[in-house]
Amino acid sequence: MSKRNAWKLSLLITLLSSALLIAQAPRSATTPRSEKSKAMTTAEVEKMTAEVLTQVSEIRGLKLLHPVKSGAKSRAEIEQMVIKNFDEETTPAELDAEYKTLLAFGLAPKGFKYRDFLIKLLTEQIAGFYDPKKKEFNLADWNPLELQKTVMAHELTHALQDQHFDLTRFDKWPKGDSDRESAIHALIEGDATALMIDYLMKPMGRSVTQIPKTLLDQMNAQTSAPGMDVINSAPNAIRESLIFPYSYGMGFAYQLLKDKGWEGVSQAYSNLPQSSEQILHYEKYAAKEMPIKIELADLSGPLSKGWKRVKFDINGEFGYYLALVEYISKDAARKASEGWGGDQFALYENATQTKTTLAHLSVWDTEADAEEFFSAYNERTAKRYPQVKPNSTAKQFVYTTPDGVTLIEARGKNVLVLEGAAAAGVKAVAAKCWESKIS
Ligand SMILES: [Zn+2]
Repeated sequence: MSKRNAWKLSLLITLLSSALLIAQAPRSATTPRSEKSKAMTTAEVEKMTAEVLTQVSEIRGLKLLHPVKSGAKSRAEIEQMVIKNFDEETTPAELDAEYKTLLAFGLAPKGFKYRDFLIKLLTEQIAGFYDPKKKEFNLADWNPLELQKTVMAHELTHALQDQHFDLTRFDKWPKGDSDRESAIHALIEGDATALMIDYLMKPMGRSVTQIPKTLLDQMNAQTSAPGMDVINSAPNAIRESLIFPYSYGMGFAYQLLKDKGWEGVSQAYSNLPQSSEQILHYEKYAAKEMPIKIELADLSGPLSKGWKRVKFDINGEFGYYLALVEYISKDAARKASEGWGGDQFALYENATQTKTTLAHLSVWDTEADAEEFFSAYNERTAKRYPQVKPNSTAKQFVYTTPDGVTLIEARGKNVLVLEGAAAAGVKAVAAKCWESKIS
Protein backbone atom coordinates (compact mmCIF):
# COMPACT_ATOMS: atom_id res chain seq x y z
CA MET A 1 0.00 0.00 0.00
CA SER A 2 1.11 3.49 -0.57
CA LYS A 3 1.97 5.24 2.67
CA ARG A 4 3.23 8.70 1.89
CA ASN A 5 4.82 10.56 4.71
CA ALA A 6 2.31 13.30 4.55
CA TRP A 7 2.53 14.54 8.10
CA LYS A 8 5.41 16.88 7.41
CA LEU A 9 3.48 18.44 4.60
CA SER A 10 0.23 18.53 6.47
CA LEU A 11 -2.36 18.29 3.82
CA LEU A 12 -5.10 19.17 6.27
CA ILE A 13 -7.50 17.59 3.92
CA THR A 14 -11.09 16.55 4.58
CA LEU A 15 -11.06 17.38 8.23
CA LEU A 16 -10.26 21.00 7.76
CA SER A 17 -13.53 21.63 6.01
CA SER A 18 -15.41 19.38 8.41
CA ALA A 19 -13.77 21.08 11.37
CA LEU A 20 -14.76 24.50 10.12
CA LEU A 21 -18.33 23.34 9.70
CA ILE A 22 -18.46 21.96 13.22
CA ALA A 23 -16.80 24.94 14.80
CA GLN A 24 -19.05 27.40 13.03
CA ALA A 25 -22.30 25.62 13.64
CA PRO A 26 -24.97 26.89 14.05
CA ARG A 27 -23.61 29.72 11.91
CA SER A 28 -23.98 28.12 8.54
CA ALA A 29 -22.37 30.66 6.25
CA THR A 30 -18.72 30.17 5.45
CA THR A 31 -16.65 32.51 3.37
CA PRO A 32 -16.78 31.46 -0.27
CA ARG A 33 -13.53 29.83 -1.36
CA SER A 34 -12.96 32.45 -4.00
CA GLU A 35 -12.59 35.28 -1.49
CA LYS A 36 -8.88 34.95 -0.95
CA SER A 37 -6.99 37.26 1.31
CA LYS A 38 -4.11 39.19 -0.11
CA ALA A 39 -0.70 37.65 0.43
CA MET A 40 0.61 37.90 3.98
CA THR A 41 4.07 39.20 4.70
CA THR A 42 6.57 37.31 6.84
CA ALA A 43 6.29 39.98 9.53
CA GLU A 44 2.53 39.44 9.73
CA VAL A 45 3.01 35.66 9.84
CA GLU A 46 5.56 36.01 12.65
CA LYS A 47 3.20 38.12 14.72
CA MET A 48 0.30 35.75 14.19
CA THR A 49 2.54 32.74 14.92
CA ALA A 50 3.48 34.11 18.34
CA GLU A 51 -0.15 34.78 19.17
CA VAL A 52 -1.47 31.37 18.03
CA LEU A 53 1.47 29.54 19.67
CA THR A 54 0.54 30.98 23.05
CA GLN A 55 -3.06 29.82 22.70
CA VAL A 56 -2.13 26.40 21.35
CA SER A 57 0.45 25.84 24.07
CA GLU A 58 -2.19 26.63 26.69
CA ILE A 59 -4.85 24.33 25.23
CA ARG A 60 -2.40 21.50 24.60
CA GLY A 61 -0.77 21.86 28.03
CA LEU A 62 2.74 21.85 26.55
CA LYS A 63 5.15 24.69 27.30
CA LEU A 64 6.83 26.45 24.45
CA LEU A 65 10.50 25.50 24.90
CA HIS A 66 11.97 27.53 22.02
CA PRO A 67 10.57 30.15 19.70
CA VAL A 68 9.41 28.81 16.31
CA LYS A 69 10.76 30.34 13.12
CA SER A 70 8.00 31.13 10.67
CA GLY A 71 7.43 32.72 7.31
CA ALA A 72 5.00 33.16 4.43
CA LYS A 73 5.75 31.20 1.27
CA SER A 74 4.41 31.55 -2.23
CA ARG A 75 2.89 28.66 -4.16
CA ALA A 76 6.06 28.24 -6.23
CA GLU A 77 8.25 28.12 -3.11
CA ILE A 78 6.00 25.61 -1.39
CA GLU A 79 5.85 23.41 -4.48
CA GLN A 80 9.63 23.40 -4.65
CA MET A 81 9.87 22.37 -1.00
CA VAL A 82 7.31 19.62 -1.47
CA ILE A 83 9.18 18.20 -4.47
CA LYS A 84 12.53 18.38 -2.69
CA ASN A 85 11.12 16.66 0.38
CA PHE A 86 9.43 14.05 -1.81
CA ASP A 87 12.61 13.21 -3.72
CA GLU A 88 14.65 13.01 -0.52
CA GLU A 89 12.21 10.50 0.91
CA THR A 90 11.76 8.16 -2.02
CA THR A 91 14.15 6.93 -4.70
CA PRO A 92 12.77 6.38 -8.23
CA ALA A 93 13.26 2.60 -7.75
CA GLU A 94 11.24 2.64 -4.52
CA LEU A 95 8.52 4.66 -6.16
CA ASP A 96 8.40 2.26 -9.10
CA ALA A 97 8.11 -0.73 -6.74
CA GLU A 98 5.36 1.05 -4.83
CA TYR A 99 3.42 1.69 -8.01
CA LYS A 100 3.87 -1.90 -9.20
CA THR A 101 2.58 -3.11 -5.84
CA LEU A 102 -0.56 -1.02 -6.32
CA LEU A 103 -0.92 -2.51 -9.81
CA ALA A 104 -0.46 -6.06 -8.53
CA PHE A 105 -3.18 -5.49 -5.94
CA GLY A 106 -5.39 -4.01 -8.66
CA LEU A 107 -5.55 -0.65 -6.86
CA ALA A 108 -4.22 1.68 -9.57
CA PRO A 109 -4.86 1.76 -13.31
CA LYS A 110 -2.19 0.62 -15.77
CA GLY A 111 -0.17 3.48 -17.25
CA PHE A 112 -0.95 5.69 -14.23
CA LYS A 113 1.61 8.49 -13.82
CA TYR A 114 2.24 7.82 -10.16
CA ARG A 115 4.97 10.32 -9.28
CA ASP A 116 3.39 13.22 -11.19
CA PHE A 117 0.10 12.48 -9.57
CA LEU A 118 1.50 12.32 -6.05
CA ILE A 119 3.30 15.63 -6.48
CA LYS A 120 0.15 17.28 -7.78
CA LEU A 121 -1.79 15.77 -4.93
CA LEU A 122 0.65 16.87 -2.26
CA THR A 123 0.76 20.42 -3.54
CA GLU A 124 -3.00 20.82 -4.04
CA GLN A 125 -4.20 23.48 -1.67
CA ILE A 126 -1.42 22.85 0.80
CA ALA A 127 -2.10 25.24 3.62
CA GLY A 128 1.22 25.31 5.42
CA PHE A 129 3.64 22.97 7.08
CA TYR A 130 6.02 22.58 9.95
CA ASP A 131 9.45 21.21 9.03
CA PRO A 132 10.96 19.29 11.99
CA LYS A 133 14.40 19.24 10.34
CA LYS A 134 14.61 23.01 10.11
CA LYS A 135 12.34 23.64 13.13
CA GLU A 136 10.45 26.06 10.96
CA PHE A 137 6.82 26.73 10.13
CA ASN A 138 5.83 27.81 6.62
CA LEU A 139 2.44 29.26 5.85
CA ALA A 140 1.06 29.20 2.33
CA ASP A 141 0.30 32.81 1.55
CA TRP A 142 -2.60 32.25 -0.83
CA ASN A 143 -5.25 30.79 1.48
CA PRO A 144 -8.27 32.73 2.76
CA LEU A 145 -7.62 34.58 6.00
CA GLU A 146 -10.24 32.55 7.90
CA LEU A 147 -8.14 29.46 7.30
CA GLN A 148 -4.78 30.93 8.27
CA LYS A 149 -5.15 30.75 12.05
CA THR A 150 -6.74 27.33 11.87
CA VAL A 151 -3.85 26.03 9.82
CA MET A 152 -1.45 27.64 12.25
CA ALA A 153 -3.10 26.01 15.25
CA HIS A 154 -2.61 22.63 13.57
CA GLU A 155 0.94 23.21 12.36
CA LEU A 156 2.15 24.83 15.56
CA THR A 157 0.91 21.78 17.46
CA HIS A 158 3.50 19.90 15.37
CA ALA A 159 6.12 22.39 16.56
CA LEU A 160 5.17 21.71 20.20
CA GLN A 161 5.11 17.94 19.56
CA ASP A 162 8.59 18.24 18.09
CA GLN A 163 9.93 20.23 21.03
CA HIS A 164 8.57 17.75 23.57
CA PHE A 165 8.55 14.38 21.77
CA ASP A 166 11.14 14.82 18.97
CA LEU A 167 9.44 14.17 15.64
CA THR A 168 12.76 13.71 13.81
CA ARG A 169 13.12 10.26 15.42
CA PHE A 170 10.39 9.06 13.01
CA ASP A 171 12.16 10.41 9.91
CA LYS A 172 14.15 7.37 8.93
CA TRP A 173 11.68 4.66 9.71
CA PRO A 174 12.86 1.10 8.93
CA LYS A 175 11.66 -0.17 5.56
CA GLY A 176 8.91 -2.74 5.46
CA ASP A 177 7.18 -1.46 8.57
CA SER A 178 4.76 1.05 7.17
CA ASP A 179 1.67 -0.14 9.03
CA ARG A 180 3.34 0.91 12.28
CA GLU A 181 4.65 4.07 10.62
CA SER A 182 1.10 4.99 9.54
CA ALA A 183 -0.12 4.39 13.07
CA ILE A 184 2.45 6.86 14.39
CA HIS A 185 1.53 9.39 11.70
CA ALA A 186 -2.06 8.95 12.76
CA LEU A 187 -1.14 9.83 16.35
CA ILE A 188 0.80 12.93 15.22
CA GLU A 189 -1.88 14.15 12.80
CA GLY A 190 -4.78 13.10 15.01
CA ASP A 191 -3.28 15.06 17.91
CA ALA A 192 -2.80 18.20 15.77
CA THR A 193 -6.23 17.91 14.16
CA ALA A 194 -8.04 17.41 17.48
CA LEU A 195 -6.16 20.41 18.88
CA MET A 196 -7.14 22.47 15.87
CA ILE A 197 -10.80 21.63 16.40
CA ASP A 198 -10.50 22.45 20.10
CA TYR A 199 -8.94 25.77 19.14
CA LEU A 200 -11.87 26.50 16.83
CA MET A 201 -14.47 25.52 19.41
CA LYS A 202 -12.90 27.32 22.34
CA PRO A 203 -14.41 30.78 21.68
CA MET A 204 -17.85 29.14 21.96
CA GLY A 205 -16.88 27.58 25.28
CA ARG A 206 -16.94 24.09 23.79
CA SER A 207 -14.35 21.41 23.23
CA VAL A 208 -13.57 18.64 20.82
CA THR A 209 -14.67 15.89 23.24
CA GLN A 210 -18.20 17.30 23.12
CA ILE A 211 -18.53 16.28 19.48
CA PRO A 212 -20.70 13.16 19.39
CA LYS A 213 -18.77 10.03 18.38
CA THR A 214 -21.36 9.32 15.68
CA LEU A 215 -20.52 12.62 13.99
CA LEU A 216 -16.82 11.74 14.02
CA ASP A 217 -17.60 8.37 12.48
CA GLN A 218 -19.56 10.12 9.75
CA MET A 219 -16.54 12.31 9.06
CA ASN A 220 -14.36 9.22 8.81
CA ALA A 221 -16.79 7.66 6.39
CA GLN A 222 -16.27 10.58 3.99
CA THR A 223 -13.96 9.49 1.27
CA SER A 224 -13.79 12.72 -0.67
CA ALA A 225 -12.69 16.23 0.17
CA PRO A 226 -14.95 19.06 -0.99
CA GLY A 227 -13.23 21.35 -3.47
CA MET A 228 -10.07 19.25 -3.77
CA ASP A 229 -10.18 18.00 -7.33
CA VAL A 230 -6.85 16.22 -7.48
CA ILE A 231 -7.39 14.22 -4.34
CA ASN A 232 -10.94 13.41 -5.37
CA SER A 233 -9.70 12.00 -8.67
CA ALA A 234 -7.06 9.83 -6.98
CA PRO A 235 -7.45 6.07 -6.99
CA ASN A 236 -9.39 5.23 -3.84
CA ALA A 237 -6.56 3.36 -2.08
CA ILE A 238 -4.15 6.27 -2.55
CA ARG A 239 -6.68 8.85 -1.42
CA GLU A 240 -7.80 6.92 1.62
CA SER A 241 -4.29 6.17 2.81
CA LEU A 242 -3.46 9.86 2.58
CA ILE A 243 -6.53 10.82 4.56
CA PHE A 244 -6.10 8.03 7.13
CA PRO A 245 -3.77 9.85 9.59
CA TYR A 246 -6.15 12.82 9.72
CA SER A 247 -9.51 11.08 9.82
CA TYR A 248 -8.87 7.93 11.82
CA GLY A 249 -5.98 9.58 13.65
CA MET A 250 -8.42 12.20 14.84
CA GLY A 251 -10.78 9.46 16.04
CA PHE A 252 -7.88 7.88 17.93
CA ALA A 253 -6.85 11.16 19.56
CA TYR A 254 -10.49 11.81 20.46
CA GLN A 255 -10.66 8.49 22.34
CA LEU A 256 -7.38 9.25 24.13
CA LEU A 257 -8.72 12.67 25.08
CA LYS A 258 -11.98 11.24 26.43
CA ASP A 259 -10.02 8.63 28.34
CA LYS A 260 -7.15 10.67 29.80
CA GLY A 261 -7.21 14.23 28.44
CA TRP A 262 -4.32 15.94 26.64
CA GLU A 263 -1.91 14.35 29.11
CA GLY A 264 -3.02 10.98 27.74
CA VAL A 265 -2.31 12.13 24.18
CA SER A 266 1.17 13.19 25.31
CA GLN A 267 1.78 9.82 26.99
CA ALA A 268 1.03 8.05 23.69
CA TYR A 269 4.38 9.39 22.35
CA SER A 270 6.17 7.12 24.79
CA ASN A 271 3.64 4.33 24.32
CA LEU A 272 3.30 4.48 20.54
CA PRO A 273 0.46 2.85 18.61
CA GLN A 274 1.80 -0.24 16.85
CA SER A 275 -0.58 -0.83 13.97
CA SER A 276 -3.41 0.66 11.95
CA GLU A 277 -5.55 -1.87 13.84
CA GLN A 278 -4.80 -0.03 17.10
CA ILE A 279 -5.75 3.28 15.47
CA LEU A 280 -9.02 1.88 14.12
CA HIS A 281 -9.89 0.14 17.40
CA TYR A 282 -8.80 2.21 20.37
CA GLU A 283 -9.59 -0.66 22.75
CA LYS A 284 -6.86 -2.74 21.06
CA TYR A 285 -4.36 0.05 21.73
CA ALA A 286 -5.51 0.30 25.35
CA ALA A 287 -5.22 -3.50 25.68
CA LYS A 288 -1.77 -3.39 23.99
CA GLU A 289 -2.77 -5.99 21.38
CA MET A 290 0.50 -6.35 19.47
CA PRO A 291 0.81 -7.31 15.82
CA ILE A 292 2.19 -10.77 15.05
CA LYS A 293 5.38 -10.65 13.02
CA ILE A 294 5.60 -12.59 9.76
CA GLU A 295 8.78 -13.03 7.74
CA LEU A 296 7.92 -14.32 4.29
CA ALA A 297 10.31 -17.00 3.05
CA ASP A 298 12.69 -16.07 0.23
CA LEU A 299 10.88 -16.84 -3.03
CA SER A 300 13.76 -16.19 -5.43
CA GLY A 301 14.48 -19.96 -5.60
CA PRO A 302 11.09 -21.21 -6.78
CA LEU A 303 10.53 -18.11 -8.93
CA SER A 304 13.61 -19.04 -11.00
CA LYS A 305 16.56 -17.09 -12.29
CA GLY A 306 16.57 -13.31 -12.52
CA TRP A 307 13.59 -12.72 -10.24
CA LYS A 308 14.25 -10.52 -7.27
CA ARG A 309 12.35 -8.99 -4.40
CA VAL A 310 11.73 -5.28 -5.04
CA LYS A 311 9.45 -4.49 -2.12
CA PHE A 312 8.21 -5.96 1.13
CA ASP A 313 5.87 -4.42 3.63
CA ILE A 314 2.86 -4.89 5.88
CA ASN A 315 -0.72 -4.28 4.79
CA GLY A 316 -2.17 -4.06 8.27
CA GLU A 317 -5.90 -4.03 8.91
CA PHE A 318 -6.30 -0.74 7.06
CA GLY A 319 -4.27 -1.88 4.05
CA TYR A 320 -6.39 -5.01 3.79
CA TYR A 321 -9.54 -2.95 4.15
CA LEU A 322 -8.39 -0.81 1.18
CA ALA A 323 -7.52 -3.89 -0.88
CA LEU A 324 -10.95 -5.39 -0.24
CA VAL A 325 -13.09 -2.26 -0.53
CA GLU A 326 -11.79 -1.65 -4.03
CA TYR A 327 -13.98 -4.55 -5.17
CA ILE A 328 -16.49 -5.43 -2.44
CA SER A 329 -18.87 -3.44 -0.21
CA LYS A 330 -17.55 -1.22 2.60
CA ASP A 331 -19.37 -3.23 5.21
CA ALA A 332 -18.02 -6.55 4.00
CA ALA A 333 -14.50 -5.12 3.64
CA ARG A 334 -14.56 -3.69 7.15
CA LYS A 335 -15.81 -6.91 8.71
CA ALA A 336 -13.35 -9.10 6.81
CA SER A 337 -10.31 -6.97 7.67
CA GLU A 338 -11.19 -6.97 11.37
CA GLY A 339 -9.53 -9.69 13.38
CA TRP A 340 -6.21 -9.04 11.61
CA GLY A 341 -3.27 -10.39 13.60
CA GLY A 342 -0.31 -9.66 11.32
CA ASP A 343 0.90 -10.01 7.74
CA GLN A 344 3.72 -9.43 5.32
CA PHE A 345 3.69 -9.01 1.56
CA ALA A 346 6.54 -9.16 -0.94
CA LEU A 347 6.67 -8.09 -4.56
CA TYR A 348 9.09 -9.90 -6.88
CA GLU A 349 10.01 -8.77 -10.36
CA ASN A 350 11.60 -10.65 -13.25
CA ALA A 351 14.92 -9.63 -14.83
CA THR A 352 13.32 -7.71 -17.72
CA GLN A 353 11.04 -5.84 -15.30
CA THR A 354 7.98 -6.92 -17.26
CA LYS A 355 6.36 -9.30 -14.77
CA THR A 356 5.69 -9.28 -11.06
CA THR A 357 4.55 -11.83 -8.53
CA LEU A 358 2.96 -10.63 -5.32
CA ALA A 359 2.78 -12.84 -2.25
CA HIS A 360 1.01 -11.99 0.98
CA LEU A 361 0.63 -14.13 4.03
CA SER A 362 -1.56 -13.08 6.92
CA VAL A 363 -2.45 -14.37 10.36
CA TRP A 364 -5.84 -13.78 11.97
CA ASP A 365 -7.03 -13.76 15.57
CA THR A 366 -9.17 -16.87 15.13
CA GLU A 367 -9.78 -19.49 12.45
CA ALA A 368 -13.20 -17.93 11.91
CA ASP A 369 -11.54 -14.55 11.19
CA ALA A 370 -9.17 -16.25 8.73
CA GLU A 371 -12.11 -18.00 7.09
CA GLU A 372 -13.96 -14.70 6.75
CA PHE A 373 -10.97 -12.97 5.16
CA PHE A 374 -10.39 -15.97 2.87
CA SER A 375 -14.01 -15.77 1.58
CA ALA A 376 -13.88 -11.98 1.21
CA TYR A 377 -10.61 -12.13 -0.74
CA ASN A 378 -12.14 -14.75 -2.95
CA GLU A 379 -15.19 -12.55 -3.55
CA ARG A 380 -12.88 -9.64 -4.34
CA THR A 381 -10.90 -11.68 -6.84
CA ALA A 382 -14.07 -12.93 -8.52
CA LYS A 383 -15.16 -9.28 -8.92
CA ARG A 384 -11.72 -8.20 -10.14
CA TYR A 385 -11.72 -10.92 -12.82
CA PRO A 386 -15.41 -11.48 -13.58
CA GLN A 387 -14.62 -13.55 -16.72
CA VAL A 388 -12.47 -16.07 -14.87
CA LYS A 389 -13.91 -19.18 -13.27
CA PRO A 390 -11.77 -20.45 -10.39
CA ASN A 391 -10.70 -23.99 -9.63
CA SER A 392 -11.74 -24.38 -6.05
CA THR A 393 -11.68 -26.60 -3.04
CA ALA A 394 -12.97 -25.69 0.43
CA LYS A 395 -9.63 -24.12 1.42
CA GLN A 396 -8.15 -23.04 -1.90
CA PHE A 397 -9.15 -20.96 -4.92
CA VAL A 398 -7.04 -20.73 -8.07
CA TYR A 399 -7.87 -18.16 -10.75
CA THR A 400 -6.01 -18.17 -14.06
CA THR A 401 -6.27 -14.51 -15.01
CA PRO A 402 -4.81 -12.39 -17.82
CA ASP A 403 -2.35 -11.03 -15.18
CA GLY A 404 -1.19 -14.51 -14.11
CA VAL A 405 -2.41 -16.96 -11.50
CA THR A 406 -4.13 -15.79 -8.33
CA LEU A 407 -4.07 -18.40 -5.60
CA ILE A 408 -5.90 -17.95 -2.29
CA GLU A 409 -5.40 -20.56 0.39
CA ALA A 410 -6.45 -20.85 4.04
CA ARG A 411 -4.70 -23.00 6.63
CA GLY A 412 -5.85 -22.64 10.21
CA LYS A 413 -5.45 -19.00 11.23
CA ASN A 414 -3.36 -18.18 8.13
CA VAL A 415 -4.29 -17.05 4.64
CA LEU A 416 -1.86 -17.01 1.73
CA VAL A 417 -2.48 -15.07 -1.47
CA LEU A 418 -0.34 -15.13 -4.60
CA GLU A 419 -1.11 -12.77 -7.47
CA GLY A 420 0.38 -12.64 -10.95
CA ALA A 421 2.21 -15.95 -10.52
CA ALA A 422 3.31 -18.03 -13.51
CA ALA A 423 1.11 -21.14 -13.85
CA ALA A 424 4.11 -23.48 -14.05
CA GLY A 425 5.72 -22.45 -10.77
CA VAL A 426 2.74 -21.52 -8.64
CA LYS A 427 2.70 -24.70 -6.52
CA ALA A 428 6.39 -24.41 -5.65
CA VAL A 429 6.04 -20.71 -4.79
CA ALA A 430 3.05 -21.41 -2.56
CA ALA A 431 4.86 -24.29 -0.84
CA LYS A 432 7.81 -22.01 -0.12
CA CYS A 433 5.51 -19.32 1.30
CA TRP A 434 4.10 -21.82 3.78
CA GLU A 435 7.63 -22.22 5.19
CA SER A 436 7.57 -18.57 6.31
CA LYS A 437 8.32 -17.65 9.88
CA ILE A 438 5.34 -16.57 11.95
CA SER A 439 6.24 -15.44 15.45
ZN1 LIG B 1 -0.31 17.96 10.34
